[in-house]
Amino acid sequence: MTVAVVGAGISGAACARALQEAGVGVTLLDRGRVPGGRLASRRIDGRPVDLGASYLTCRDARFSAVVDDWCARGLAHPWTDAFHEATPAGLGGRKTGPVRFGTPGGMRSLVADLLAPLEVTQQVHVSSVGPGPVVDGRAYDAVVLAMPDPQALPLLVDLPHERAQLVDRAWEPVLALAARFPARTWDLDGCFVAGSDVLGWIADDGRRRGDGAPVLVAHSTSALAAGHLADPSAAGPELLDALRSLLGIPVAPEWSFVQRWTYARPVNVREMPYWLGDSGVSLCGDGWGSPRVETAWLSGHLLGQALAARLG
Ligand SMILES: Cc1cc2nc3c(=O)[nH]c(=O)nc-3n(C[C@H](O)[C@H](O)[C@H](O)COP(=O)(O)OP(=O)(O)OC[C@H]3O[C@@H](n4cnc5c(N)ncnc54)[C@H](O)[C@@H]3O)c2cc1C
Repeated sequence: MTVAVVGAGISGAACARALQEAGVGVTLLDRGRVPGGRLASRRIDGRPVDLGASYLTCRDARFSAVVDDWCARGLAHPWTDAFHEATPAGLGGRKTGPVRFGTPGGMRSLVADLLAPLEVTQQVHVSSVGPGPVVDGRAYDAVVLAMPDPQALPLLVDLPHERAQLVDRAWEPVLALAARFPARTWDLDGCFVAGSDVLGWIADDGRRRGDGAPVLVAHSTSALAAGHLADPSAAGPELLDALRSLLGIPVAPEWSFVQRWTYARPVNVREMPYWLGDSGVSLCGDGWGSPRVETAWLSGHLLGQALAARLG
């Protein structure tokens, strides 16, 4: 029995782990240079900067057990339960919510940890998945696509039921601006920005990492991102001006750059946790529930268990 899991983000990693733990063979394929998908950390100045997911939260007991284990091994830590709120007019007060967890080694390190007992083939861009099921012409006992809907849809050939799950599912983009300043002149962990045409969220990367580096990561509104998908760095000055103006940062950064997420999050929430197809092709990821790290892990984990049970 071998299942091909396409996509080594956290949902694909969780699915592959659940299959492996049930004794099913897994071939894990990903088109990126490194695994992690939207749990993306880039190493700059010898330290990781999180450019995708900012933090994780946990409500489900099964995911909490995984997060507790990461915390016990020093891979994750509770970061904060309070973020500021802001409007373009200025910074407001702090609002308390669930505990948000950060990582000393970057969010990608969590996917790397899940994948430690597995082999991943990177830099393989899968281009077709068809009945059989086959992946680029190669037969498997089952196939899982663990990725955003708009990335999975063009891969599906002659699979009308699976395609029907994905058509007309809108996803929106985000740009992430990372910038390092000479010193921390602000006092916040994170900040939700409302009513801005430019900024949606700001995170203090030094505080969430725990090393205190004066690095901020600001996420754009989806409207701003949609207008700059062809040339994301052109949005850099506008994002930087809005960030400095909101936080009153008097000096220019030492460096900054912009990361594009064309499919950052689904616009609407689905009620199903995954799609287990009769064709042998199944679908999981954060498109199956609210767009969060926990949702993606749970979607992959539950699909892996269901698939292992079906394969016997
Ligand atoms: C800017 C941003 C901020 C976020 N902030 C938060 C947050 O603070 N908290 C939170 O809980 N969540 C947050 N999220 C959401 C979180 O990142 C996602 O829910 C989660 O990472 C989704 O994981 P996934 O495995 O479903 O998909 P992905 O991480 O997108 O993984 C899909 C994988 O499939 C691979 N792939 C795609 N097409 C192919 C192909 N044709 N062939 C081979 N491989 C392919 C990709 O390389 C990728 O590795 C954020 C997301 C973004 C973009």
